[in-house]
Amino acid sequence: MGSQEVSTVDWQGKHVTVAGLGVSGIPAARALHERGALVTVVNDGDDERSRAQAAELEALGVTVRLGDGATLPPSTELVVTAPGWQPDKPLFLAAAEAGAPVWGDVELAWRLRGDDGREPAPWLAVTGTNGKTTTVRMLASILEAAGLRTAAVGNIGVSLLDAVLGETEYDVLAVELSSYQLHWAPSLRAHSAAVLNLAPDHLDWHGSMEAYAADKGRVYEGNTVACVYNAADPATEDLVREADVEEGCRAIGFTLGTPGPSQLGVVDGLLVDRAFVADRQKQAQELAEVADVNPPAPHNVANALAAAALARAFGVEPAAVRDGLRAFRPDAHRIEHVADIGEVAYVDDSKATNTHATEASLAAYDSIVWIAGGLAKGATFDELVTGAAKRLRGVVLMGADRALIHEALTRHAPDVPVVDLDRTDTGAMSEAVARAAELARPGDTVLLAPACASMDMFTNYNKRGEAFADAVRARADETA
Ligand code: ADP
Repeated sequence: MGSQEVSTVDWQGKHVTVAGLGVSGIPAARALHERGALVTVVNDGDDERSRAQAAELEALGVTVRLGDGATLPPSTELVVTAPGWQPDKPLFLAAAEAGAPVWGDVELAWRLRGDDGREPAPWLAVTGTNGKTTTVRMLASILEAAGLRTAAVGNIGVSLLDAVLGETEYDVLAVELSSYQLHWAPSLRAHSAAVLNLAPDHLDWHGSMEAYAADKGRVYEGNTVACVYNAADPATEDLVREADVEEGCRAIGFTLGTPGPSQLGVVDGLLVDRAFVADRQKQAQELAEVADVNPPAPHNVANALAAAALARAFGVEPAAVRDGLRAFRPDAHRIEHVADIGEVAYVDDSKATNTHATEASLAAYDSIVWIAGGLAKGATFDELVTGAAKRLRGVVLMGADRALIHEALTRHAPDVPVVDLDRTDTGAMSEAVARAAELARPGDTVLLAPACASMDMFTNYNKRGEAFADAVRARADETA
């Protein structure tokens, strides 16, 4: 199926089971009910909140079954699932036995786009282990600078279903997709797509690295114009090779080095395009300066190149790439400069919740007091510590799994001073900042890049980042 072809399903009287009440389940149930489907929502939980949500849906005529998300309602012809539900759940085994396909929220949005007769907007899709949100926002900013009607949607706060069914008309969508969403989106066909990088993450959900990679690789299936890969991460290029794409679709690489033909890269402080030019053997088109990327940390320049590649694949002019990158403001807690105190910079990268992200973040500074720790999610830290050892002025550790990082530091960076806070309470952050300040020397960066999830100490990474920023600002006020 070509990317602009709209599939029409006759929903009238179709028995659809929606798995999971929640941000994707409720709008899915409503949309299907409105189209005449006979919808049953099943949900594991049976708490006060789900009862209130259930009551609202039941008032419309949707059946809701709380407290049992495992049993497939009889006569189910299709299951629409929340993306986070693990593929080995009994409900899905039962669906397979019953011959009922399973769609995620993205698949549903893909199938419903254009079913009201409007011309559907093409999707420019981004996935990868790290950098998705940043890249998708950069892409949306570039598309806007080109005068296109667009939005950053998907795994980023605005659901695809809302984007596809809402009143607003779009020329093109900048779509962030998680590996879970891709797993459940078998017929998605993007105009062009990028896989930014591939490092082990969420392996408990996918079962293996191969299965995780295969789900990420689905983003390239059926692309019509460009499959964008990371030249520094051969696994992403392998996925392009394995994908079944439309005739004429091109593989486009991005690199922090000098680009070869059909690549975007960096030459003398400039982002240049050797892919979308008339003669890619001889010609390179300047797009922007590295300094236009905000912040110009190496991994973020890579994100900018990926965003630029997708925009160029859509036909955006070079000046709009530059203007869009200049207008882009990063989301909070992603290498966010909080304050300078004395001659020390304080940077919040609370969103660095795995070692791959933290590696990128540590690579962006020359001399660092590193604040780390939290829930390790099964990660090991040897490689991370070995790579960063030379740039560490000192380390402050906190959180449940801090011993794992401490042990790696003892093995690979025995001369780096480590303060082990031996705390997992929320208040530990201000002590961490105080101890980091003691270790820092003029010119250093105090960097919160925990390499761990936050839930042992905070509600989420936002709260962790806020606690850091509050502690830093309190300190800045004291010393002002
Ligand atoms: P995602 O949406 O994939 O979680 P974000 O843009 O929110 O990605 O960034 C998450 C974390 O990953 C941030 O801490 C950031 O420092 C780091 N990061 C961003 N881009 C990259 C990249 N290209 N490679 C490695 N790490 C990255």
